[in-house]
Amino acid sequence: MTLSLLGLNREDLQQLFIQWGEKPFRAAQVMKWIYHVGLRDYHMMTDISKVLRQRLADETNMDLPQVVADHPSRDGSRKWLLRLEDGNSIEMVFIPESDRGTLCISSQVGCTLACSFCSTARQGFNRNLTTAEMIGQILLAAHLLGIPKNQGDRVITNVVLMGMGEPLLNFAAVVKAVAIMLDDYAFGISKRRVTISSAGVVPAIEQLKQVTDVSLAISLHATTDLLRDQLVPLNQKYPIAELLRACQFYADAKAGKKQITFEYVMLDGVNDSDADARRLVKLMRTVPSKVNLIPFNPFPESGYQTSPKARVEHFREILMQAGVITVIRKTRGDDIAAACGQLVGEVVDRTRRSHKLLSIMGEAVA
Ligand code: SAH
Repeated sequence: MTLSLLGLNREDLQQLFIQWGEKPFRAAQVMKWIYHVGLRDYHMMTDISKVLRQRLADETNMDLPQVVADHPSRDGSRKWLLRLEDGNSIEMVFIPESDRGTLCISSQVGCTLACSFCSTARQGFNRNLTTAEMIGQILLAAHLLGIPKNQGDRVITNVVLMGMGEPLLNFAAVVKAVAIMLDDYAFGISKRRVTISSAGVVPAIEQLKQVTDVSLAISLHATTDLLRDQLVPLNQKYPIAELLRACQFYADAKAGKKQITFEYVMLDGVNDSDADARRLVKLMRTVPSKVNLIPFNPFPESGYQTSPKARVEHFREILMQAGVITVIRKTRGDDIAAACGQLVGEVVDRTRRSHKLLSIMGEAVA
């Protein structure tokens, strides 16, 4: 297999061209053809030499994941099942709103974290996605939705790493993908509009601050370690107090404080009492934050139910009264099982899961 150009950020591509005896500025030219114009054929890149075009065609590729199924939802969102080179499948979702278009991409095939309310957890873990596979999702979606003629018309305005997988357990590949998302010669998305959603891999949050300052969302879901240990088993390793300290550190950006979004899935009778809301207020006082209440999206044999609407609203009221900015996330795409936690691709090899879980969690602390 040849080298995927989609896995290279601008510096990498410049380095490659220098090695090839080409001028480094060719990198920006090639990137513009790929990401702005949407060319799929090197031979049409008319401002670079025929020799370079041929070498790119011989030695590199810009392959995209393959669309296996395309499910449009009644509410306008779309979910695609995508097949990767090695036969694994992942899912991707596009959620259009009046003022933005959000693409939700996957960062791993499956997930190791085994959160008790998440359906991705049920299918186990296969492997990390490469940078090229993450960028490939966005470029594919851009082609499916229409590559804009100019920046003002863009369809994909926001990218969230909230699909399958835990992005901070695939750190290096995610950081590189984020750099390509932000680069003006590639997608040119502003850093506020790229969000990494994490269950709370504390050392990786600290490392992330050294390399980028995109938006961070934390899947909190509980206000006591006793409960969070059950819902998000990663909490046994990185309890709430430590997680919030890492969030403070991340939020403490040079120019003004950065707000962190805390996601809180509303599970009937589990984490939705007034006492939970009051504890959440206390926790939120320690970090510049806002709260996203997510109605639980049920799936077969989950064992949980969605909190009644009135309960979710009352919970929000307690937070708002205490000055915590809180939004209730609209459930989108539930008729196509594209809602949070319902992104289930096909994992080819489930048997290695427990083995991989240990080694990956080991890497995260190392
Ligand atoms: N691993 C990352 C990103 C993937 S999950 C993370 O934990 O943040 C994306 C979001 O969907 C998380 O907040 C997750 O907790 C939430 N989620 C998972 N299953 C859900 C379900 N069944 N209903 C509602 N939200 C769910």
